[in-house]
Amino acid sequence: MSDRKTIPIPANPELPGMPVTRRVCSAEFHLSILQTAGRSDYSDFCGMTLEEFVDFTADLGMEIWYGGLGPGTGPSSALLHSTHLDVAQMRAVPGQPQADFEARYVERSHRHGILVIGSYKMNAWPALAKLHPDWLIQDIDDGREVKPNEHFVCYNSPFGEWLGDYLAEQVERFDLDGVWFDDSQYGSKGAWPWPAGCVCPACNRIRSRISMRSCPSGLQTPMKPSSPAWPGTV
Ligand SMILES: [Zn+2]
Repeated sequence: MSDRKTIPIPANPELPGMPVTRRVCSAEFHLSILQTAGRSDYSDFCGMTLEEFVDFTADLGMEIWYGGLGPGTGPSSALLHSTHLDVAQMRAVPGQPQADFEARYVERSHRHGILVIGSYKMNAWPALAKLHPDWLIQDIDDGREVKPNEHFVCYNSPFGEWLGDYLAEQVERFDLDGVWFDDSQYGSKGAWPWPAGCVCPACNRIRSRISMRSCPSGLQTPMKPSSPAWPGTV
């Protein structure tokens, strides 16, 4: 990077320690995207090393980074090997970064005072759902044909506690400043029609405790306001 200017560390001396309420420049940026900005082995990005790339974004004014760590192909956690369903398929993607890739990114960002917020799926966990199919959201029957649920898990199941443990481990492992839930389409599966709710055993237990009744086994199909049967329609 000899033809580029030397960027001091921190690029903005006022940034380290700045309260989050005073920070205005944030970006969603997933580390997997870096492969498109350089070599497939993540060794450089448009001619920059990883450290030089972080310096470059710091000089541009990055104050908070929201993003996914790594390309998702390596061991994810002691609690879950990979968030991906088909690890073998992910390993077939050409180019893998070095094992300390994420740690180097976070460490360099922190030297600039950039807050690092890890991005995680809110309840879409394909691999976890295969390990714990009993944690899946069980859609209430409302007469509509909804997309079968294969990987959206319910917080009221043991997944809720597992998620807390997993995120705590991730925060410590990667020295994160916080976590952010991306793709927060609770129960929607990202596809219409959206199911009306969950009737899994855990949800049933909570409803029983609160209302002394179990979840209904079904609901009336939702009505559109344009329907002649809509209340008040003459
Ligand atoms: Zn549930």
